[in-house]
Formats: sequence, C-alpha cells, structure tokens
Amino acid sequence: SDPAWGQVVRAQSGFYTVRMSGGQSVVCRLRGRLKRLHRQGDVVAVGDWVRVTVLPDGSGVIEAVAPRQRALERRAPTARGTYQQVLLANPDQLVLVFACAQPEPRLRMLDRFLVIAEKQQIPALIVANKVDLVGLERAQEIFAIYPPLGYPVLYTSAKTGYGIEALKAHLIGKLSALAGPSGVGKSSLLNAIQPELGLAVGSVREKGGKGRHTTVVRQLFPLDGGGYVADMPGLRTLALWDTQPEELDGYFPEIRDLVALCQFNDCSHTNEPGCAVREAVAQGKIHPQRYESYLRLRAGEEEESE
Ligand code: GDP
Ligand code: ZN
Repeated sequence: SDPAWGQVVRAQSGFYTVRMSGGQSVVCRLRGRLKRLHRQGDVVAVGDWVRVTVLPDGSGVIEAVAPRQRALERRAPTARGTYQQVLLANPDQLVLVFACAQPEPRLRMLDRFLVIAEKQQIPALIVANKVDLVGLERAQEIFAIYPPLGYPVLYTSAKTGYGIEALKAHLIGKLSALAGPSGVGKSSLLNAIQPELGLAVGSVREKGGKGRHTTVVRQLFPLDGGGYVADMPGLRTLALWDTQPEELDGYFPEIRDLVALCQFNDCSHTNEPGCAVREAVAQGKIHPQRYESYLRLRAGEEEESE
C-alpha cells in the first residue's frame, strides 16, 4: 500500500513498533539502506517519525526518517570508534522528579539534569513530589532557586492527589522523558495519573535493572488524553554527555548571561581576576548552591551513585 507516517513507540532487536497517524500499530523492519547507515549511529530510535510501507501480510518497512527536532543522545565509544547513540528522539520535555523529603532532595543531581537539558535544548519541568511530608511552604523554599532561572516547578503528592491534575495537564499531548532518583515517587505519580501506566513503567524498570543498557528508551507509554511518557532511569548514571569544561558556563542560565562581562574571554569563573560570575556570587545574585554545582561539574566530579 502507499507509504504513511507514524511514530516509533517501541524498539526491540531490529523490530520497530510504529503507531500510524490513523491510530493502528505496525511492527516494522528497516529498509536495507537505512540498516547500513545504522552502523555509525542510531538512524531510527524510539520517538522518531518514520515513513512506513505496509506489506500485504500486515508487517511494515521503514523507508525514511523525518529530521529530529531534538534528541537525548550521546557519543558512545566502541571498539571501532564512536557511535551516536540516541536514547530518545523528539522529547518535548524532560520531567525531573525529586522528593521534598524521603529521600532528601539532591539538588546537585537536579542541577546536573538541568545541564543535560540545556545542552540538548530540551525544556525542563521540575516536579517536587511528596509535598505532604513537608508542607507546601517548606517545599517552595527548597525549590525556590529554580523558577527565576526559567525552570518551572510543580508541587505534587501522589499520596494526597495534590497537583496531580496540573501534572497531567503538563503531560497531555507531549512526549515527556521522565527522570529522577529512585524512591521519589515516579511510578506512584504515573499511577495517580493513569493506573495501568504506573504499573507498566514500574515493571519495565524492575526487569531492566540498573545497568548502563537501561539508558536507551525501548518503549513509550501512551497517555489516555494523548501524548507519551518515556522512563529514563539511567539518565543520572551518564557522564555529562561529552560536555567540555569550557562549555559548561553556557548551560547555567544565570552564568551564561554574565560571561561576556568577565575580563578574560576564556575565563573559567573559578579564580581569575575581573570575573563577573564570581562578582555576582559575592553579591548574592547567583545562588551559592548553583555556583557550587557549576564548580563541581566543571571539576568533573562524579555524582555519587545510589
Ligand atoms: P520511584 O522509584 O520513583 O518510582 O518511586 P515509587 O513510586 O516506587 O515510590 C517510592 C515510595 O514513596 C513508595 O513507598 C511510595 O508509596 C512513596 N510515595 C510516592 N509518592 C509519595 C507522596 O507523594 N507522598 C508520600 N508520603 N509518599 C510517597
Ligand atoms: Zn568569569
């Protein structure tokens, strides 16, 4: 039949499940030409929009891939050089879930996620869950640094239902990549939004374990009102996505704006004279916590693993 477009919602061992614009799902293979390109990098990944020819037996062939709007991707070293690995194609937002307590919010890890979002130019939404444990006022104090930087914060409780409708509204119609430490309530939140979703995500995560191979998204979970959620449990374990120390200042909005004012144009903002960034820290215009995150990430300090 005639080729038609759809989105890859599942990838496994060379087979791609594509949800067609008509609503039906087709299990596809790659056209040979695309398969050869696949050796240097992921030509097709979950989230990609693809053109499919459906064969008489109901299976499909992926003929072409639409240019990606954006991607969560990285250069993975291999024995034969590097491979451009696409963890997720076309995410509309990175949803970063942290708990207000139990476990204590690790804002250093949040800053690290925000750097990834900035580098890959993906809008970030912070979800502060378990507000029931500390109260809204205290919760807003904990996350107060972020809204002025342009990162919205949603306060939720999967336990009481607080903020669940607002979270739902932010997810509908979008492809959201969900990340955050374990135990913060990611599955519980999805469960509160749509019961079978939380269960599905939770079970896939158990099976996948904690290894590095869990970083690539294998499956999108559809939302009843439209849109998808992709679980990214491995995101925190990645090194900073090939980020060079010199580019890091560009991924902190409050630092980025000041860089041009530093005396040296290769200023590292660590110890140089005439540094506008250190000046702003001294004046309280940049939060010391964020500056500390910058320094640590710049020094290449690895986040302690869970
Ligand atoms: P995940 O590892 O991020 O998927 O976290 P889970 O959804 O498995 O939740 C971890 C624990 O936190 C479970 O015992 C949940 O019942 C609990 N939990 C989740 N959300 C909330 C919340 O909003 N308030 C409270 N008090 N506990 C929560
Ligand atoms: Zn400087």
